[in-house]
Amino acid sequence: MNLPASLIIIDDQRYLLHDTGGCGHPEIPARLQAIRQAVEQSDSIGDIRFFPPQPAVRDYLTLAHNENWLFRFEESVLSGKTFIDHTDNQISYDSYEIACLAAGAGITAVDLLENQETNNVFCLVRPPGHHAEHSYPFGFCFFNNCVVTLRYWQEKYAQERIVVFDFDAHHGNGIQSAFEEEAGNFYISIHEHPSFSYPGTGYGEETGIGEGKGSILNIPLSPGSGRRELDHILASVIPEKLEEWQPQAIIVAAGFDAHKEDDMSGLSYSTELYESIGREVKTWADIYTDGKIISILEGGYEISVLGESVESYLRGTLGR
Ligand SMILES: [Zn+2]
Repeated sequence: MNLPASLIIIDDQRYLLHDTGGCGHPEIPARLQAIRQAVEQSDSIGDIRFFPPQPAVRDYLTLAHNENWLFRFEESVLSGKTFIDHTDNQISYDSYEIACLAAGAGITAVDLLENQETNNVFCLVRPPGHHAEHSYPFGFCFFNNCVVTLRYWQEKYAQERIVVFDFDAHHGNGIQSAFEEEAGNFYISIHEHPSFSYPGTGYGEETGIGEGKGSILNIPLSPGSGRRELDHILASVIPEKLEEWQPQAIIVAAGFDAHKEDDMSGLSYSTELYESIGREVKTWADIYTDGKIISILEGGYEISVLGESVESYLRGTLGR
């Protein structure tokens, strides 16, 4: 029997085939190449196993999206359209298939954790997911990879009390709307304040609706925020909430566009700050989830610092 791997990265060359058309669109294949290179060259991550994703089949996609959206997406791609609803959401002929493969990475990750192949999986995927809504695409996102993963975990393994922790610079509107009206799962998002930033949701007052009241923790930050603000949030605000919620599984929406060099936000994170975030995630996982962590790539667009930011985060999650 193989020993469990300390880190498995779900990766597939086909993720490069989702073509956003050039013309300055920031969500480009080179993002993944930069990350892969940085983690392969890292001498402090240790042994990494790369593992291919399975595509998410329709039955799992419809746990998070309605059938009409699936048809509309597939049809748009096959008919040669270049974007859906807004030019943010650029597509190419392969985009539907690749989006299924991105959503499927989280499914593969769940299976790997449940089969005890590892405790720590990073899904190196595109297109990203956290802005995608139940029935439409939004902000470069087509399928909500984190929500598909959460629903699959619930459905196939009866996993309860799952927390999604989102440190992308932008609020994950699609994750929040997926379960803000139900009890039992939780969402934490740290992001640039919606008054200044896309997509305009994620105010602190949005804490859930009806039965879901109290299941959402939005932590909006002023432009320029970085280490000082994060240290307090990671060390006390979030741990207090986790203690109240007692989650049993964690999915991380791992976006790296809050880096001070990334002009997709006004936040001011350093590369080293991502290591601290990873370290805290590991601490929470050790307390609540038997050390199990699934992280799924969201944003991060400044190629010159994206690889080192992900490497730094992963080192943190491994306690190195
Ligand atoms: Zn973002």
